[in-house]
Amino acid sequence: MVFDTVITGAEVATATGTYTADIGIRDGRIAALTQPGEALEAPETVDAAGLTLMPGLIDVHSHHREPGFTHKEDIATATAACAAGGITTTFAMPNVHPVPNDAATLEAMFELYRRSAIVNWNVNAAGTDVEQIPALAAMGIAAFKVFMVVDTGRDYPHMPGIGVHDHGELMAIMEACVAADVPLMVHPHDQALMDHIERGYWDRGERDALAYAKAYAAHNGLIWDSAIATLLRLQEATGVRLHLLHVQTERSVELIAQAKARGQAVSAEVNPWALFLGHRWENIERLGSYALSYWVDEHHVEALWDGLRDGTLDLISTDHAPHTREEKEPGWTDGWKANTGTPSAQFCARMVLDAVHRGKLTLERAVELTSTAPARIFRVAGKGTVTVGADADLVLVDRARTATVEDAEVLSKIGYSPYAGQTYTGMPVRTFVGGRTVFADGAVTGAPGTGTQSRRDDRTAAVR
Ligand SMILES: [Zn+2]
Repeated sequence: MVFDTVITGAEVATATGTYTADIGIRDGRIAALTQPGEALEAPETVDAAGLTLMPGLIDVHSHHREPGFTHKEDIATATAACAAGGITTTFAMPNVHPVPNDAATLEAMFELYRRSAIVNWNVNAAGTDVEQIPALAAMGIAAFKVFMVVDTGRDYPHMPGIGVHDHGELMAIMEACVAADVPLMVHPHDQALMDHIERGYWDRGERDALAYAKAYAAHNGLIWDSAIATLLRLQEATGVRLHLLHVQTERSVELIAQAKARGQAVSAEVNPWALFLGHRWENIERLGSYALSYWVDEHHVEALWDGLRDGTLDLISTDHAPHTREEKEPGWTDGWKANTGTPSAQFCARMVLDAVHRGKLTLERAVELTSTAPARIFRVAGKGTVTVGADADLVLVDRARTATVEDAEVLSKIGYSPYAGQTYTGMPVRTFVGGRTVFADGAVTGAPGTGTQSRRDDRTAAVR
């Protein structure tokens, strides 16, 4: 057999083991996996000696900002960042304008991705209109998303149409997701408690980014733990496949472990900002709103690492959330006036590989957390592993290369990274989407439109 591309001599890393192999790619799939030196024939050979080949990262939580907020980011720039970051499938979040909570709006959004996406994609539709859930589910989406946030003092990033805080409405949405057999992702948040906590800060005249960070983390993470306890109980009542977004407290990890021990269908994610940015108070002081997403105190961070290692926490996704400098600057005086969220798609793999380098995770666990688990939980067929027949969505990484993140290399439209100045060991050097190279030698080579929808596969059993 003649292949399209052959990769030779790579250390192949999967969730279950690591070995050296040559790989033949044909028609976008892995067609052969052989002992090194068997001389597979192809017009293109990639010498990967000294490099590690992993299944491409599958990022189920990313904010691409298109349509509606393309001054921050668009599908082309977001997916260019993905290509450079070894992410071969990216799921978009629905806080765009118009909000994709009906079939026509979602289809229009799909059309934008067909035209512009450099890597594979899907869209987590807003599950805020129960009537629309069956029609949206039929479009191959992998999950619905609901924010429990009803934002205070601003209407962005949590605009009307994406937030549901009423527990009865949440339960109805869960029931509709069960009927549609599609998982529900929820941003956990207790708005009533937040309203009370915020008032205390504002009454004392504390409004800057540091006050904002402390308010969200108040009482050892009360707003997160309260929301997650409610969501887990609702999951038990409805049987929905619940995915908890950006878990960040010790108590939440305990609650998730208890739910899993009872056999509940729950999965949970951690985002890089919790492990590598908001995990140090000094970063919040130095960068203000630029470092917020959220502040995660030290003892919580240790619980997150433990949970990632022992399986209580299932996956790492980016929560890539770019905002312009103009949208971050007001945080120095009013943290509530700055947009919350931090970009990370381009650098997440470097951080995870650095965690492997430092012994925080095994290489196999890193592959599981970033690729194999998201493919399994969201039923993306043919992805998340390196095996004959699987899609050739792959990333070659140099686990020994040490580099410092610089603003100058940022591909996101905003042109800066809160991780600038951080040094990590391990980085993607070449990314393949369906066998085609979309990033190599420091440059994105993939054309807009290369990516296709990573559809939910209903033939695959739902496995946690
Ligand atoms: Zn998010």
